[in-house]
Amino acid sequence: MTNEPVYLDHHATTPCDARVVERMLPFFTEIFGNPASLTNHHGRRAANHLEDSRISIARFFRVEPNEIYFTAGATESNNIALHLLRPGDHAISSMTEHKSVLAPLERFEKSGGEVTLLQPDGEGRIEAAAVMEALRPNTRLVSIEAANGEIGTVQPIAEIGVLCRERGVLFHTDMTQAAGKIPVLLANVDLASFSGHKMYGPKGIGGLYVRRGTRIEPLVAGGGQEKNVRSGTVNVPGVVGMAAAVQICAEEMRDEAARLAAIRDALREGIVTQITGVTVNGPRALRLPGNLNVSFDRVDAESLIIGLRRFSLSSGSACGSGERGPSRVLRAIGLTDPQSMGSIRIGLGRSNTMEHANMLIDDLKRVVARLREISAA
Ligand code: PMP
Repeated sequence: MTNEPVYLDHHATTPCDARVVERMLPFFTEIFGNPASLTNHHGRRAANHLEDSRISIARFFRVEPNEIYFTAGATESNNIALHLLRPGDHAISSMTEHKSVLAPLERFEKSGGEVTLLQPDGEGRIEAAAVMEALRPNTRLVSIEAANGEIGTVQPIAEIGVLCRERGVLFHTDMTQAAGKIPVLLANVDLASFSGHKMYGPKGIGGLYVRRGTRIEPLVAGGGQEKNVRSGTVNVPGVVGMAAAVQICAEEMRDEAARLAAIRDALREGIVTQITGVTVNGPRALRLPGNLNVSFDRVDAESLIIGLRRFSLSSGSACGSGERGPSRVLRAIGLTDPQSMGSIRIGLGRSNTMEHANMLIDDLKRVVARLREISAA
């Protein structure tokens, strides 16, 4: 019996699957060669495993192995993708994107670029029609995430991709929260970012899909690894781990998505029927299976999270921990600041069960009632 709280923050990160760790271990001690040292056995051995991993990851995303580049994570992948923008270009993105998309876009704007950030509808959705309306003659790139990590909205990236393709505009999607959780179709996508640690793989490894023929500019200069897209010795244990993680997702994703959606739906029903003054944020359908985001009237989310001692929860994006105050995403979908400050994000994952949902409903009833009593006093 352990006293560890139940982990309900799987959008922030996921634990590395034990099967992934097992696959990685020989790559720290035994198969340690530098994959760029092709003149020796050790280097070639590492390079072979690197390329095998690239093949299996490419197969999962239904793209070509030479279209996959390894990076240090989705933050780096997003930065590399957006680095192709040049002063005078116009880019379209949305208000609910991750900081690692918005911050490079802000920098691009300061250096003479034009940026349109679309406002989503009340469920966080960006319609292809809204992208179409925002197009300008100098629009070079559209960047819309595949799914949102706070409210779980799944974006219509297939439609947006078709639109961009027809207009000759590049389409980038940050699929960090969607990859390995739901199918993501890259048929009309030019660039796509993903990260190992959101798929039960290791941290500090990620990738960027770049459609063949798409010109990108490296962010760092160096030894020219990864066809000069990302210089630096490749993190071979990380890549092998991410490939193992992807393989597990490929095998288990369908069943796991259905299992998580059932727990999530039970949790939502329990909360809305047993607690008053509750609003569920985000869409009912087309939502990440493990995501729930709920606002409690007259409750401060930070106090609520502290009160829910049996759980590890978060009020929003961990990457926004530098950003204090109301969530940008909740504000964009129309919540008032007090509503937003009373919201928690529940991120279900592989370790969670229906029992955890029942425990959380019980604890929420108790803690929400107590906090409301205190605030009324
Ligand atoms: N994009 C999204 C949507 C994310 O959720 C995250 C991680 N919170 C990132 C990018 C950054 O990923 P990484 O931690 O691999 O840099």
